[in-house]
Amino acid sequence: VVEDDPAVGAALVDGLARSGFEPDLVISGAGVDAALPGVEVVLLDLGLPGEDGLEVCRRIRARSSVPIIVVTARGEEVDRVLGLELGADDYVVKPFGLRELVARIRAVVRRTQGGVAERPQVLGGLVIDRRAHRVRLDDEDLALTPKEFDLLALLAEDPGAAYSRRDILEAVWDAHWYGPTKTVDVHVAGLRRKLGDPGWIETVRAVGYRLAVPG
Ligand code: CA
Repeated sequence: VVEDDPAVGAALVDGLARSGFEPDLVISGAGVDAALPGVEVVLLDLGLPGEDGLEVCRRIRARSSVPIIVVTARGEEVDRVLGLELGADDYVVKPFGLRELVARIRAVVRRTQGGVAERPQVLGGLVIDRRAHRVRLDDEDLALTPKEFDLLALLAEDPGAAYSRRDILEAVWDAHWYGPTKTVDVHVAGLRRKLGDPGWIETVRAVGYRLAVPG
C-alpha cells in the first residue's frame, strides 16, 4: 500500500489485513523499491508528495510485472488513462469502500497470477480458503454447499460490515435476481447450523446480516 495520508493508510492496512491480506504500508515513492520484492499486488495512490504516483507507477513497471491498482481522486480522468497506459492493471476512485477494493484486488490477482496471492483468511477459529474453495472451523472441514460457501466468503470480505439481503442476493445468486429475499434467510440458517455457533452471523435488524467472530 503506497499512501501518504496516515489515516487512509492505517485504515487500508487494517481493512486489508482483516480481509486476509498481509499489507505493508509505504508512505512515499522513495520507499517502494525496497518494499517491492515479494509483494504480490501494489495499491498505489497517485496523489503523493514529492515523486508523483504516475512516476512511481512507471518506475515499478520498468522493473516488475507485479499487478498495480492505482488510487485516484474523483474526476482525475487523465490520471486514470495515464495510469493504465503506464502499466497499471486497474484503478479505484476515491472515496471507495473496502468491499470494492478487495473485489478489485482479487480480480487483478486472479487475472494476472492465477490467484497465488490469495492466502486463506483466518477469522478466529474459522479459515476460509477461497482458492481451494474450502472452509475449516477449529481444524475441522465444513461441508458447505456452493451457495453457502459464496455467502460466507462474501460476508467475510468485510467482517463486521452489514450486508443487506439485496446485496447478498445480487452477489451470491445473480445480479438481476429479484425473487423473494427469503432465500438468503434460508441459507443463513443452514450456514449458522454448520458453523455451530449462531454468533458467527449476526442479524442486522431490517437490513440483513454481518459476520462476527463469537466471543
Ligand atoms: Ca495522497
